[in-house]
Amino acid sequence: MQDNLTYEGVFMTTDKDKVKRVKLKAASKLNQIMADYFYELDAAAKAKEPKIAWCTSVGPAEILRAMGFLVFFPENHGAMLGASRMATDLLPIADAQGYSPEICSYLRADIGAYLSKTTPIAKSYKGIEGVPRPDVLAFNTNQCRDVQDWFTWYAKKLDVPVIGIHTHRGVGKVTQNHIDSIATQLKDLIKPLEYISGNKFDLDKLKQVVALSKECSILWKKVLDTARNVPSPFTFFDGTIHMGPAVVLRGTQQANDFYQLLLNELEERVTNNIAAVPHEQHRIYWDGMPVWGRLRDHSELFSDLNANVLASTYCNSWIFSAFDPDDPFNSMARAYTELFIVRSDDFKETYIKEMLNAFKVDGIIYHDAKCCPNNSNASYGMPQRLERATGVPSITINADLNDLRLISDEQTKTNVEAFIEQLEENQS
Ligand code: SF4
Repeated sequence: MQDNLTYEGVFMTTDKDKVKRVKLKAASKLNQIMADYFYELDAAAKAKEPKIAWCTSVGPAEILRAMGFLVFFPENHGAMLGASRMATDLLPIADAQGYSPEICSYLRADIGAYLSKTTPIAKSYKGIEGVPRPDVLAFNTNQCRDVQDWFTWYAKKLDVPVIGIHTHRGVGKVTQNHIDSIATQLKDLIKPLEYISGNKFDLDKLKQVVALSKECSILWKKVLDTARNVPSPFTFFDGTIHMGPAVVLRGTQQANDFYQLLLNELEERVTNNIAAVPHEQHRIYWDGMPVWGRLRDHSELFSDLNANVLASTYCNSWIFSAFDPDDPFNSMARAYTELFIVRSDDFKETYIKEMLNAFKVDGIIYHDAKCCPNNSNASYGMPQRLERATGVPSITINADLNDLRLISDEQTKTNVEAFIEQLEENQS
């Protein structure tokens, strides 16, 4: 795999002066199950069975799996394009198709990759030539409208059916009306999916998949919650890589086995007082998306300053606490609507305040991603309001998830160093 896709480092202090980087034992298992996942999809695409669905990252994956589809996630591919830094060359190709440089750089990198007939999957996994061709495309606009445009582009290009859920945005209190409208749309997917898959819908099968997804969600939350410990055994940067199975294999036993393994290892680190960042002095919250092409650089920038970015809204996006196998449609509707990205600013502020307390945070980084206002919260005064309410200072990094042309590394480094210096002064 590409260098940045196998970010596996955590740090431990072996003696006072020498810092040694050690690999999480679970990382080799992670690489293996991600490889198995892509090879299984490739084999299905070649054999034309089982059928393949492309799905947006937060759903409706459970329904697709229950209907017998293997599921591929273009956003995961977008992140791979960013982490491998292939995106930078591919974005202008999509821009030339009429996509504004201001819109989703996952969408543009992915479409650029398709038009260039290239993919990091082929570079990383011998024998795979391209992404698996879909039999159906299923989107959910709970995160943004871009996914609908993205999937519709492929529907036309590949002559494949596209179906979708249109959700509410800016939701304060989640009401029964919200749940009813989304649950109805989820149920409406069944008929076309029966037709495309050739399989009859089986409610018990859906309940099993939702039960597995719920278990995955519980384990992933426990993994992230190990960072509540002082010092933390895990970083946000570890989380962005290790969340892979929660995104692409949610609803399978493999994902759950992996998270149990990772959790055991992190709990062992807590018991043995092993820090992800040696001499952890500052505990930072990250709001927004990672800069995929700079994961390692950012990880090292913070750890060199004895700062651990250890909690985030982003990694929490794959926690679906509301899933209930006994009530799959309503609980999926609730879980997909309760997500942070779907909610009002009031809700988001209350949520972040709770996170700051729970993870004992002393500073916040807002990543204002130029191409994803949906996942950026720095433009409407939230940093100032939260700082007034909590006293926790913050800075905003102007960058992007995939478009490295929008990033000034020098500026980021200078700003982060000044911010950590400010935290040090606050502590003294
Ligand atoms: S939420 Fe942002 S990054 Fe994700 S698909 Fe939408 S615009 Fe792209």
